[in-house]
Amino acid sequence: MPIVSPPQDNPYAAPQTEVLHSAEGRGRVWRDGKLLRLEQGAQLPQRCVRCNAPAEVHIDRKLYWHSPWWALLIFAGVLTYAIVALIVRKRADVRIGLCAEHAKARRRTMLGLGALALFGVAACVSAPVGLRGFGVLLGAVLPLTAWFIGQRRSAVLQPVRIDKQEAVLKGASEEFLASLERRAA
Ligand SMILES: [Zn+2]
Repeated sequence: MPIVSPPQDNPYAAPQTEVLHSAEGRGRVWRDGKLLRLEQGAQLPQRCVRCNAPAEVHIDRKLYWHSPWWALLIFAGVLTYAIVALIVRKRADVRIGLCAEHAKARRRTMLGLGALALFGVAACVSAPVGLRGFGVLLGAVLPLTAWFIGQRRSAVLQPVRIDKQEAVLKGASEEFLASLERRAA
């Protein structure tokens, strides 16, 4: 697909001060060191967040975040923490772009994690009597680990902070960040 590359492809170009607006003309996106910051409702430039090539796959994600201090509530019980976390968490809807190559890599990771989870379940149900305990352990640990890693990997970008005004995300490549306006915290 012939897509005209934006001028920031030149690695020797002077730092960009481009202000990016969403398609609707609202919401800004900028870099803050290694972090990506965007106003709530802003749209990311549709380039691969891993390599800055034109995006061919678009992933719509709802990213959630709450202050880590709320995790202390776990001492009051896992259920209490889970309910409060659902109430206090902040959300940002983000459309993340990936090139075909990085979308394929993401799919491969997800398939590998799925296989790992299935292997855990299979080990659990097929373990010989003498190894039952070990099988149950694998059956619990592997799917949980795969789910935990899968949550992060499928989102591509991880929230560092989300509030009413903006979302701060990590995981974008230097190539992608280099094309954005800089703004200090
Ligand atoms: Zn890419």
